[in-house]
Amino acid sequence: VDISKGYIIGVDVGGTDVKVSLNDLKGNFIAKTSLPTYVPKGEEVVLHQIISAIEEVIKLGEVTKGEIIGIGVGAPGPLNTKEGIIYHAPNLNWRNLPLKKIIEEGTGIRTWLDNDANLAALGEKVFGVGKDSQNMILLTLGTGIGGGIIIDGKLYRGSDDGAGEVGHMTIEPNGYRCNCGNRGCMEALASAPNMVRRTKEALSAGEESIIPELVGGDLDKIDTKVLATAARKGDKLAEKIWKKTGEYLGIGIGNLINVLSPDMIVLGGGVSHAGDLLLEPIRETLKERAMQANPAMIVLAELGNDAGVLGAVALVIQNLNLV
Ligand SMILES: [Zn+2]
Repeated sequence: VDISKGYIIGVDVGGTDVKVSLNDLKGNFIAKTSLPTYVPKGEEVVLHQIISAIEEVIKLGEVTKGEIIGIGVGAPGPLNTKEGIIYHAPNLNWRNLPLKKIIEEGTGIRTWLDNDANLAALGEKVFGVGKDSQNMILLTLGTGIGGGIIIDGKLYRGSDDGAGEVGHMTIEPNGYRCNCGNRGCMEALASAPNMVRRTKEALSAGEESIIPELVGGDLDKIDTKVLATAARKGDKLAEKIWKKTGEYLGIGIGNLINVLSPDMIVLGGGVSHAGDLLLEPIRETLKERAMQANPAMIVLAELGNDAGVLGAVALVIQNLNLV
């Protein structure tokens, strides 16, 4: 393969859709496609869809298989990057699936696998806001809280590919129960569902707020977008929820800064779209909790919906030492 003319395929496997892209080595998009993941139809169907989508971007991009340097795949973990096996992906109903081998056999192209949060971090490092960063930690803030850690320019995976589970740092020993079984994890305190839960608890305790009006009285419609709108209109309860969320995140990020001394902390995921509503309380908390925090080191992710596929492309680049 002539590397200078080569292309890379990025695959982002999620519980609701699969995104596949064909990119050049600079991360420019040559072609992309996405399709809903038909999980109820079973493993075979989903795997067939992934292989077909890969064939499709090769066709759309009018390139030959010989010009493809490799395929990077991001998927929910836990997984084994060396063997390319997904141990368990509850959203996809997969267990011990040798995804790397299946894609290599289905396409004839060398393939690498890693978890989606790691790849979101690597994507920002190679193509996004972290280009000039050497030591970077990315947190994805959404239904859960995931993370990826870059040390000396490389993804840090730990001994069993288990590193980066920043969402499961204990923040409050007796806090809310987390999905992992522990109590008071950052994810249990600062994820989107927890923000909604704290809001509902405050409303049932009789706190004044415009939030019920914003959702037409249907409290099940409260989400982080509604909370952001309410806070921007000056709603005291919504402001309090964002402030507390930023404090929880600030405690966790302060721990990370004290241990790893990163030069950049990147916030991604849907909840990060709230911007200053989160950044301000995080920066305030860091003043007290982090021994060396520069407020400017906390930044928002840049790659948005392309983070998954670009991270997968970056995985191939990093594994082949193309940068
Ligand atoms: Zn947990």
